[in-house]
Amino acid sequence: MNLTPHSSLYSSDPVSAYNRLKEAFPRLIETQVSLAEHSSFGVGGPADLFVRVRTTGQLCELIKAANELGVPFEVIGAGTNLLVADRGCRGLVICNCIMGLEVSGRRITIAAGEDYMALVNAASVVGLTGMEFAAGIWGTVGGAVVGNAGAYGSEICDVMVEAEIVDRKGDIRTEKTPYFEFDYRSSKLKKTREIVVSATVELKPGEKEQISSRVQEILTIRGEKHPRIPNSAGSFFKNIVDPTQPYGKLPAGKLLDEVGAKELSHGGARVYEKHANILINSGTATAQDIRELADILRERTLEKHGIRLEEEVVSIGEFD
Ligand SMILES: Cc1cc2nc3c(=O)[nH]c(=O)nc-3n(C[C@H](O)[C@H](O)[C@H](O)COP(=O)(O)OP(=O)(O)OC[C@H]3O[C@@H](n4cnc5c(N)ncnc54)[C@H](O)[C@@H]3O)c2cc1C
Repeated sequence: MNLTPHSSLYSSDPVSAYNRLKEAFPRLIETQVSLAEHSSFGVGGPADLFVRVRTTGQLCELIKAANELGVPFEVIGAGTNLLVADRGCRGLVICNCIMGLEVSGRRITIAAGEDYMALVNAASVVGLTGMEFAAGIWGTVGGAVVGNAGAYGSEICDVMVEAEIVDRKGDIRTEKTPYFEFDYRSSKLKKTREIVVSATVELKPGEKEQISSRVQEILTIRGEKHPRIPNSAGSFFKNIVDPTQPYGKLPAGKLLDEVGAKELSHGGARVYEKHANILINSGTATAQDIRELADILRERTLEKHGIRLEEEVVSIGEFD
């Protein structure tokens, strides 16, 4: 691809930068795509430009071209941990749809666009144990690495050995687990904003029957505790790290319950009546309703408990 550098073009004339990017990838880039369709909350405005990437080569080329033209970009997976602003996102939104999975001995390498659950299933089918904890967690492998997704005391950082990432310049490399500086629902990638294209986990041999019955057991527990509520993004706030608590965390839901969260609603947004840390779009919510409800909850918790809740859900786009 031969793009003339136009780094100043975007700031003075975003439309021509958009057009040039579209011309460079004519069949790939769509315009004004509703991001509500790409977020489990079901709210949010459009992406000026939107693309589903299916190969790492495509991803690198797109990033390089967007940089040359000065077009900002965001990467999303399945949108199950996202709050998209009502005004949407300027620039390019890249939806990671890179697929593929390979088993080699005790290791499974899986592309970032695959469901996290596909990794759980693959491990179970080949008789490898260690992924059961992730049964029923929504989203893609890419989202799971960035947010160190986990449950029941385990997280992806416990099993991941390395991942392939693409930096903001569009160059690919492989990094071992320590690079990611994993923490509770966090990794270094939240700061560097590098993009995950695949992850490799190393598991232990196990009994297939035992693995799949543990997976089923977890799915049943999740189904009872967190039924598949439409229009939510799971837990809105992070739990509070506290070694004296089970799994080392004081549930944010407990603190929220104590400030009467379950009775609260704001515009079309409300708190799920069975779980004080889950915010729901009851059908008519705007992203702003959800944002303001979250702000009310944080204020009340700070006032009553002296604890400032941190958001697990990632907000993107232009908020008021
Ligand atoms: C009902 C429900 C229950 C849930 N339960 C749990 C749970 O038990 N445990 C848990 O940890 N989470 C849970 N979640 C949250 C969510 O499933 C996870 O955070 C998931 O890993 C998000 O993946 P995603 O592909 O949807 O990411 P998205 O929501 O699309 O994106 C989230 C963030 O990751 C970034 N991102 C996504 N893909 C990439 C990539 N390839 N490279 C770089 N950055 C990327 C985005 O830029 C964004 O910042 C739940 C969500 C729901 C709706």
